[in-house]
Amino acid sequence: MATTVLPCDADTAVRSASPMIARILDRALEGRELTREEGLILAEMGTESLDAFVAVADEIRRRRVGDIITYVVNRNINFTNICIIGCKFCAFSTGPNAADAYDLSFEEIARRGAEAWERGATEVCVQGGLPRELEGFHYRDILRAIKRATPEIHIHAFSPMEVVYGVEKTGMPLADYLAMLKADGLGSLPGTAAEILDDEVRQLLSRKKVTVKQWVDVITTAHHLGIPTTSTMMYGHVEQPVHWVNQLCLLRDIQKETGGFTEFVPLGFVHLNTHLFQEGKSRPGPTLEEHLKVHALARLMLQGAIDNIQVSWVKLGRELSQRCLQAGANDYSGTLMEENISRLAGATAGEYLPPEEFHARIRELGRIPAERSTTYKLLKIFPGRAN
Ligand code: SF4
Repeated sequence: MATTVLPCDADTAVRSASPMIARILDRALEGRELTREEGLILAEMGTESLDAFVAVADEIRRRRVGDIITYVVNRNINFTNICIIGCKFCAFSTGPNAADAYDLSFEEIARRGAEAWERGATEVCVQGGLPRELEGFHYRDILRAIKRATPEIHIHAFSPMEVVYGVEKTGMPLADYLAMLKADGLGSLPGTAAEILDDEVRQLLSRKKVTVKQWVDVITTAHHLGIPTTSTMMYGHVEQPVHWVNQLCLLRDIQKETGGFTEFVPLGFVHLNTHLFQEGKSRPGPTLEEHLKVHALARLMLQGAIDNIQVSWVKLGRELSQRCLQAGANDYSGTLMEENISRLAGATAGEYLPPEEFHARIRELGRIPAERSTTYKLLKIFPGRAN
């Protein structure tokens, strides 16, 4: 595979691909929905047609969403690192008696939200571990604390795992529980805790994690209540390309039914400090080809369903993020005033990127920076050189 990042005309690129791949790429360029079998051929192919695949994904991105690359000004608040679930890919969680265990008070969570708002953030992303002694209405009370201090900020909070835990702790029906969170200020849910949506793979990653059915129930119930969510997939560990394709088909089906996904976020596995890797049970994260393939595959398979494909800059770093933004992605994620989860797993891309840095990186690609809201409303476009 060529290592240059020069954009290449999609039709010319298709002619360089093998005949079978070229037929699939042509269908994608015609705007057709790819079948699971076609997706699988792309996911499992070698590197010889990868440049063509990437060029077509970039072209479909251009047709669907243009040359704007969006980002959101936000802050992560990981309110506790105490967790009983024990996911083998997680280097963030710890036990309640560990020296580095922490559990932020409502006052501190609210203070961080208010500080983020004062510094220009429109969103706080609130997620944490699952402590054994969690009080039943803790998640609701976090929302109340943030909203009391900063009524206008968008709260993007609580993975399906946390929602299921909240349901268990309160004994409320799922729909009632989510409706309560919405009434108390929940703006959207992160579609995290998805990892790979295959119960056999999930058993290898974390035996106590929500099942595929539970994940889908939380997400679709949220959508039906008017709570949008993101969708995610963690790749580069024990899974195979067939799992990527199955997951994209599942997400596409959900989106056709509910329309509630704002974006798809591929999350490359950061392996260094995880049990999964240290026990020799996983690959050492994705290869460059896998990163490009997953982003390109998402663009092609989700065409007409989910238009926003995000790069996770904390996991990918600068250069890889840029490559993936040229392989079908159109969103740079958030500025993140602090980010613990990837950093503790061994990612070194940093904890905060100011908007000016996003602008510079986006312009390097010849594209246009724009700040967005959590739900992809364009707040400000920065077409020229000036910030
Ligand atoms: S990924 Fe989440 S649920 Fe799993 S161990 Fe880490 S904090 Fe706990």
